[in-house]
Amino acid sequence: MQNLGYDMGITVTRYPHVFSDKRVDFTPKRMIMESNRCILCKRCVEEVKTPDGKDVFSFVQRGVKTRVNIDYEQEEKLSEAEAIRAMNLCPVGAILVKGMIQKLPFCEYKYDLLGKDLKPIVHNKALHKEPDEKFIVATTSLAGCFGCHMSLLDIDTDLLDIIEIAEFNKSPLTDIKNFSKRCHIGLIEGGCSNSENVEVLQEFRKNCDILVAFGECAIMGGIPAMRNFVPLKECLEEAYLNGVTTEIGAHVVPGHEDIPQLLNNVYPCNEVVKIDYYIPGCPPSAEYIWKVVKSILLGEEFSIAHDEFKYD
Ligand code: SF4
Ligand code: SF4
Repeated sequence: MQNLGYDMGITVTRYPHVFSDKRVDFTPKRMIMESNRCILCKRCVEEVKTPDGKDVFSFVQRGVKTRVNIDYEQEEKLSEAEAIRAMNLCPVGAILVKGMIQKLPFCEYKYDLLGKDLKPIVHNKALHKEPDEKFIVATTSLAGCFGCHMSLLDIDTDLLDIIEIAEFNKSPLTDIKNFSKRCHIGLIEGGCSNSENVEVLQEFRKNCDILVAFGECAIMGGIPAMRNFVPLKECLEEAYLNGVTTEIGAHVVPGHEDIPQLLNNVYPCNEVVKIDYYIPGCPPSAEYIWKVVKSILLGEEFSIAHDEFKYD
């Protein structure tokens, strides 16, 4: 289903991420229910019955709290083949059968190669520059681990091709701290975790014609957004007061007007400014980052098939 979304050009949700943390139910004898993946399509509720016609799955609660519940007693009555059928019915992998979880590695599931041969979905005109000038690229790392920037450098000698057509302005790669001219492309790693991240991202939007979010942290918050499941106050207390590595008697949570203020949540970039393109992966491979950048600069068509995404 995700793959179909990618094939249709849907690369990011236009709704804010809810980051709801639903219970993963390991109690059933044979199954695991991963409610965080469930899209409430109702297939399991309608189609999975015991040999004596009883329901195994049902919807419980209402509104945004609606979730699928497993009747443990009825679930025990399913044969192994029926349990596996239930797992295969679910379009998003929310129903898992213990010991029978996908045998194939990620990227080789039944639908993962759909779209591999589809036509590219990037259609844009070459960006304007004077004939004797180079394209100008800026990059920044917001709330990320810097892994995406490390990946940028993985192109090794191909970097020589890049600097034939482009030069870098504000970027950790050049250590240029402020924009000195308008840029054709801004590459954003990481989401927004504090007030400084928001300011930098807005500055990039103002100074770059095209903004590209690269890596999962920029696209959906990534690892830093795991703190969204815990209230900010508890996160700070765990980090500075109660954590296993804090000194006995520690009683100060740092806070000063000169220190960027933490936001209540970590936000994906597109929830703060308009993002023009997304490059998925954690980190995306250097080859694809630069292919996408070059295709945008030169107006060439390019797409990344789902099986080529890189998650280390
Ligand atoms: S089939 Fe899967 S996605 Fe659909 S309601 Fe059941 S658990 Fe949720
Ligand atoms: S997407 Fe992965 S590699 Fe990139 S900043 Fe986030 S955690 Fe690091």
